[in-house]
Amino acid sequence: MSADHQQNPIFVWFRNDLRIHDNPCLHAAIKQGLVQPIYLLDPRTFQASSFGLARMGTHRRRFLRESLENLRTQLESIGLDLLILNAKPEELFPKLLKSIPHAKLFFSHEYAFEETQIEAALAYELSSAQWEGFWTGTLMDPENLPFTLENVPNGFSSFRNKVEKYASIPEPVPTPNKAIGFQKHDWGEDLFALSVFAERENTDQQLQEIETMGLAPINPVADLADELDTLKTKWEQSFKGGEEAGLARLDYYLWQTDLVATYKKTRNGLIGTDYSTKFSPWLANGNLSARMIASEIHSYEGQRTKNDSTYWVIFELLWRDFFRFAALKYGRKWFAKGGIQSNVREYQNNKDYFEAWISGRTGFSFMDANMRELATTGFMSNRGRQNVASFFTQNLNMDWRWGAEYFESMLLDYDPASNYGNWMYNATLGHDPRSRFFNIELQANRYDSSGEYVMLWCRELKKVPLSLRHEPYIHNQSMFVAPIIDLEKSYEEIRKRA
Ligand SMILES: Cc1cc2nc3c(=O)[nH]c(=O)nc-3n(C[C@H](O)[C@H](O)[C@H](O)COP(=O)(O)OP(=O)(O)OC[C@H]3O[C@@H](n4cnc5c(N)ncnc54)[C@H](O)[C@@H]3O)c2cc1C
Repeated sequence: MSADHQQNPIFVWFRNDLRIHDNPCLHAAIKQGLVQPIYLLDPRTFQASSFGLARMGTHRRRFLRESLENLRTQLESIGLDLLILNAKPEELFPKLLKSIPHAKLFFSHEYAFEETQIEAALAYELSSAQWEGFWTGTLMDPENLPFTLENVPNGFSSFRNKVEKYASIPEPVPTPNKAIGFQKHDWGEDLFALSVFAERENTDQQLQEIETMGLAPINPVADLADELDTLKTKWEQSFKGGEEAGLARLDYYLWQTDLVATYKKTRNGLIGTDYSTKFSPWLANGNLSARMIASEIHSYEGQRTKNDSTYWVIFELLWRDFFRFAALKYGRKWFAKGGIQSNVREYQNNKDYFEAWISGRTGFSFMDANMRELATTGFMSNRGRQNVASFFTQNLNMDWRWGAEYFESMLLDYDPASNYGNWMYNATLGHDPRSRFFNIELQANRYDSSGEYVMLWCRELKKVPLSLRHEPYIHNQSMFVAPIIDLEKSYEEIRKRA
């Protein structure tokens, strides 16, 4: 250990970068000093959203716990002990850094308003020599974008064209195989620092408590547990949180199965685990780095096949970058009622509609199947998400933020930039304000022509003939709930509003 290392105690605050591979923040800390990794269970994450939902629902809590358990193991393998604390960063770190001479704080930057506000509060409390932020959550860094953050283009095509023409994706940083952690004496003599150190004894308990902290999450399909639990168990076994599971999925999707070579043809699928990459839950928690995915795809293209499909996965990851940089640019506006268009219109905000929508009982089987899948597993296909969001914001004319908050609570891959960005887009309040909506029955017939998908999640369709599974209300012996709205009339209303 060099003298420099000894004089540089660095707290690495893990956020949505729960991995040791391609982690520029951890990489830099290990190079420069003694490292103490910390994860904070911020009480705000477990409180109610503005519409009264638990901000982090059951599925996300499970995935987070598993991600942290795996991070702990991964860090132990390189000689570091993860400390997990219940605290707000802007309260803990200034006090902690004051109590340990020369200590520094390293962390990964985030992209959405609340998270960047926390960074601003830390920057205000700490001297610039005491902290450093790293970009670890996107393909591109703001520094290698061919425009400033204030000038992020307003359309995805323009963003992508410029990035593809003038920038290139940096290579992942190496995975560390050894690090030097804090020893007891590195915590010094200060009582506050020692009380934080003592929390090391409670890591197991903190992990267990994630699932019961704060506001209890709802389960809108609890009464369907008997018929849906097998699907739930199957999903949970396939999708475990953590870096190792994320890297295994990457290996599976590329090298073991070559699924990546047909992605563009299968990506609009609805059933099973293989029609799309399913990288999103691991990306959202930072178990998997976007750059690692791009780098592996480039190797795959060199060694096996390079085609539209291999390109398209990176194209989709650029959408993710686009939303992240746009969220940074727009700040608070990303979450505003009128969206980035500042176009506030009257919504219905009907509680019965909301309840019917979340519990998969609107009477429209394609909506209901998707919503039951989400409530049961924490996942829904991109095709499903677009349709249920369009139905919620356009046909039901509900406040888009209510739907987005429900997704925030439920989605395993919840990411404020992608979630609110996509919701805004579907509510026509985002980058493209043109009037647009999905015809949900046409969509159902196109993407679920056999009716197999709706049947999987809505068993009461058993008695409905195949040809009517997307319009069960036409069948007079249907056991399916009656539609909550007159669909045709709702399309007329949408056209009138346009
Ligand atoms: C209303 C709505 C809400 C959404 N909320 C989220 C969210 O909270 N978190 C999230 O990661 N995605 C969100 N998406 C985008 C998209 O549905 C998911 O990224 C995708 O379904 C995840 O499955 P996958 O990993 O198999 O995707 P794939 O089709 O395999 O795509 C590969 C990766 O590209 C990225 N990607 C793909 N489509 C999009 C997109 N439209 N926007 C941004 N990134 C994209 C994701 O990181 C994804 O993992 C939302 C879409 C809609 C319409």
